Amino acid sequence: MKRPTILVLGAGYGGLTTVVNLQKFVNVNEAEIILVNKNDYHYETTWLHEVGAGTISPDKARYPISTVINQNVTFVKANVESIDVNLKKVETSSGEFTYDYLVIGLGFEGETFGIPGLKDHALSLTNINTARQVREHIEYQFASWTLDDIKDDSKLTIIVGGAGFTGIEFLGELGNRIPELCREFDIPQEKVRLLCVEAAPTVLPGFDSELVDYAKAQLTKKGVEFSIGTPIVEATEEGVKIKKGDEDVEFIKAGTVVWAAGVRGNALVESSGIESHRARIAVRGDMRSPDFEDVFVAGDCAFLLNEETGRPYPPTAQIAMQQGVIIAKNIKHLMYGEPTEQFVYDDKGAVCSLGDNDAIGTAFGRKFTGKRASALKKVVDDRALYLVGGVGLTVKKGKFKFL
Ligand code: FAD
Ligand code: NAD
Repeated sequence: MKRPTILVLGAGYGGLTTVVNLQKFVNVNEAEIILVNKNDYHYETTWLHEVGAGTISPDKARYPISTVINQNVTFVKANVESIDVNLKKVETSSGEFTYDYLVIGLGFEGETFGIPGLKDHALSLTNINTARQVREHIEYQFASWTLDDIKDDSKLTIIVGGAGFTGIEFLGELGNRIPELCREFDIPQEKVRLLCVEAAPTVLPGFDSELVDYAKAQLTKKGVEFSIGTPIVEATEEGVKIKKGDEDVEFIKAGTVVWAAGVRGNALVESSGIESHRARIAVRGDMRSPDFEDVFVAGDCAFLLNEETGRPYPPTAQIAMQQGVIIAKNIKHLMYGEPTEQFVYDDKGAVCSLGDNDAIGTAFGRKFTGKRASALKKVVDDRALYLVGGVGLTVKKGKFKFL
């Protein structure tokens, strides 16, 4: 009998966790496991704010996929170009693939909500290369300021759009990096402006208000200014327009604009033949797509409702990894004609870093701030490495500066 083919698209938290669990549960005689990813490395999306600010190198935040897969898995470095679940076909830059079971784990894209100019003029922390671009762009602006005879201080203004977890974590890193950059480029620090622009009436909307106050105060000490309740309505080559009140629109000139104001699923989902909203597929309880018995969706391409609150679970690495485990189990169940298991989210809390030495978080029913929260964040980051690559990967790539 022909071995079934399990095709996994994307080696992010969802896809890679599916594969490392499949290789434990399914041996090479039982199924062919193919993993397709556009790079031959996995990057830690959850560390991109550090890469973008330049507080860690891009290499620190990535590792070769070959170090965590075994001979049960065929890895294909290719760009997925289209998915057709009706024809069971996936087109890639390395040819066409078919499958018996498909796992879509292609991650997220920045959501610009159709705001004019953002796609062309704002940078983002979406993958390792966009994060690298943010770092290099800031350094370029600082270097060109030093070379200019007539100084334009707006080159030293960095605007971060969105005060969700991504925006706040990035500002925390920048707060630590800017003094170093100023020393490197001989720039008086008071010339640098770090501005966070948030549409909602508060930063980190929905998060614990006491922790939010702490975060705001700590970032303010690091020189971050906040413009709250003032959505960005346009980006231009020179900066952004923000809406203040019903009529008033203010233009702020800036050398760097980083858009961190929300995410959607990978656009390839929208032409796959499966219904989606903002490129996210409302999955069934066992992580399968509606209508297609052989298609699973992991991570930020999946939309899952929290039955208790009636609100969707936020797209996070934590949930993507938990989904990867259940998807691997359920594929094995389907192979043997067994009933599938339901995904039950085990919410372990949330920690938002404010730079390498500070953070806020909730876990174990408690609130954490400062060095303790920062240590907790590093434990969370190390745990993600451990779950995919064991002790070896954790020792090689982990974060161990706890004090
Ligand atoms: P990803 O991890 O984004 O992986 C998608 C993979 O698909 C990538 O390897 C990509 O290269 C590949 N891919 C994409 N398109 C193609 C294509 N066309 N062809 C081939 N391959 C392709 N969540 C937390 O739980 N905790 C945190 O602390 C946290 N911090 C974050 C910090 C930042 C700065 C950001 C931006 C997000 C953070 N998140 C955090 C959210 C978390 O990173 C995402 O929810 C998570 O990465 C989603 O996992 P995923 O597997 O769906 O996608
Ligand atoms: P988000 O959707 O959580 O936050 C985006 C923010 O941008 C919101 O506060 C929103 O009000 C604001 N915004 C929207 N439109 C705007 C506009 N026009 N102008 C100004 N502000 C605007 O997005 P995110 O922060 O990128 O996070 C994405 C996902 O990743 C979330 O699920 C988050 O929990 C997760 N994440 C988690 C961590 C962590 O656990 N440490 C870190 C980063 C991201």
